[in-house]
Amino acid sequence: MNPSITERLAFDGGQPTVTKTFPWPVFDEREVQAVAGVVRSGKWGNPDCLDEVEAFENAFARYCGSKYAITCVNGSVSLRLALIACGVRPGDEVIVPPYTFIATASTVVEANCVPVFADIDPDTYNIDPKAIEAAITDRTKAIIPVHFAGQACDMDAIMDIARRHNLRVIEDAAHAHGAAYKGRKLGSIGDVGSFSFQSSKNLTSGEGGIVVTDDDELYHLMHSLRNVGRIEGGQWYDHYNPGCNYRITQMQAVLLTEQLKRLEEQTQTRNENGLYLNELLADVDGITPLTRGHGETLHCYHLYIFRYDAAAFGGNLSKAGFVERLAAEGVPCFRGYPHPLYRQPLFQNKTFMCYALPDTVDYSQVYCEVAERACKEEGVWILQHAMLGTKADMDLFAEAIRKIQRAVRAA
Ligand SMILES: *Cc1c(COP(=O)(O)O)cnc(C)c1O
Repeated sequence: MNPSITERLAFDGGQPTVTKTFPWPVFDEREVQAVAGVVRSGKWGNPDCLDEVEAFENAFARYCGSKYAITCVNGSVSLRLALIACGVRPGDEVIVPPYTFIATASTVVEANCVPVFADIDPDTYNIDPKAIEAAITDRTKAIIPVHFAGQACDMDAIMDIARRHNLRVIEDAAHAHGAAYKGRKLGSIGDVGSFSFQSSKNLTSGEGGIVVTDDDELYHLMHSLRNVGRIEGGQWYDHYNPGCNYRITQMQAVLLTEQLKRLEEQTQTRNENGLYLNELLADVDGITPLTRGHGETLHCYHLYIFRYDAAAFGGNLSKAGFVERLAAEGVPCFRGYPHPLYRQPLFQNKTFMCYALPDTVDYSQVYCEVAERACKEEGVWILQHAMLGTKADMDLFAEAIRKIQRAVRAA
């Protein structure tokens, strides 16, 4: 074969390096039968017989090593339940990273509190404990560390800061089902752990969310908020707290029960593939996988992230251009957030609904250098379903990157 044809980038009409697709969600007849069974039973969501929902909650709590778990409609509402139950008051400050999905910060605004952005660590893209410490004021009430991409935050440092300043810690573990820090499952370390079951997440029922906690009081409050303010053992028409109907259905619960049985093996596969890809990319000039540090014992690679340095790719190929070419080579990848969260119109414009944000809070003045660089220049994501591939697939992902490098250097 003419080598110039195999070397031509798929982006320019050549052959893609990767030709297979990576299915997600992964399921078989077991999921189909489980959902069919609920449909036939007629017990779809009657609040008096949520036996499948409770069975899943028990299984997930056990899996996390937590005392309690409470499901809810999604991983944003789960953050909201956690914040309200933790006792935040209007005007309280909550420290969040700027490199995350909007819900981590927008739920803080919804709870009438003020998100305060603390920059990320350039080696892990997780919130930097030094930046947390610097952001603390006498109004700070809570920290929401996000285990971004499924990589554990520096939890010892964060819990130590929280203890010293009497702050609540809500782990946003929406990316981190099954991942572990020093042998403990993420989500089970802070006051509350929050997870999403939205369709892209490592454990999914299409939509859904859950909180886990060891704290009896937080459990009862979040349980009540999820169930229209009712209390356990209380009467149907007696409402004690300003909650809402945030319950999931029995169909979602059995789907999650089946998916949970697959999670450990999938997590191990992604973890091994991530370690292998780290080795493969170690000697590719201009490609730096994020560091696994801070007591990471199991990374679930909701995203496999590496830093891209355009200087090693001829100097003129932007991150966006590189990601377009990598996607054309058949690697499921994404350029990530276009900008840090504080640049969102929500924070820059502060509509009338943001009355909880005082005039003294001006997000146009916020600048987190590492997050800016991660968004604009460096951070490239390979998606979790691709990390369920084989070692041979990882070889091809690395080869696709090298192929782009050869092509742009030859140009
Ligand atoms: C997906 C996600 C959420 C919210 O989950 P939804 O179920 O989509 O509401 C929260 N935080 C992070 C970091 C997420 O990625």
